[in-house]
Amino acid sequence: MIAIYPGSFDPITLGHLDIIERSSRLFEHIIVAVLRNPNKSPLFTVQQRLEQIRQSTQHLPNVEVDAFDGLTVNYAKMRQAEVLLRGLRAISDFEVELQMAHTNKTLSTQIETVFLATSNEYSFLSSSVVKEIARFGGSVNHLVPPHVALDIYQCYTNNHTVSNPTTKMEAIPPQQSLPTGTPSQKMHKQ
Ligand code: ADP
Repeated sequence: MIAIYPGSFDPITLGHLDIIERSSRLFEHIIVAVLRNPNKSPLFTVQQRLEQIRQSTQHLPNVEVDAFDGLTVNYAKMRQAEVLLRGLRAISDFEVELQMAHTNKTLSTQIETVFLATSNEYSFLSSSVVKEIARFGGSVNHLVPPHVALDIYQCYTNNHTVSNPTTKMEAIPPQQSLPTGTPSQKMHKQ
């Protein structure tokens, strides 16, 4: 069975990677699909994100990385996937994700949304949290794969915003996790 894992991945985090690794044991083939979303101003281009994800998943032979635009269900049908994979961190994710899953069901009854619960250690982690820390000069080495951390530091150094990329930050408690988007943004891109 083919599963699509759609998202922004701006950038991929260890939380995303954990979901990809665990789901690669559950499904024959996983397609990590980066959404081209003209309504968002990403830190990294789609091409950069594809490269970051490819490098992060090169140890997983049944994982493919691709980009798409338009409705996720249409892309899933085109790729003959039967599953949309999403991760759940908190109740706030649940509300948005449930609405998306129901909406997608109205668009295609053939495609099921499957949720994987976050691993405990990544329940606070989002791409937004990573960018927020890096923007103020904190270390993100414990939050993203090493090559992605370098890309992030380079990005913020070029913008003259990172003062000390090697500074270790304290772990952020779960209640400070930032939402990755409003329901309307998320509905739009589906
Ligand atoms: P989107 O803009 O679609 O939310 P993201 O890249 O933020 O794109 O997230 C893609 C998917 O990965 C979503 O289902 C999100 O809930 C999930 N996800 C993100 N971070 C984590 C994490 N730390 N643990 C589990 N799932 C996560």
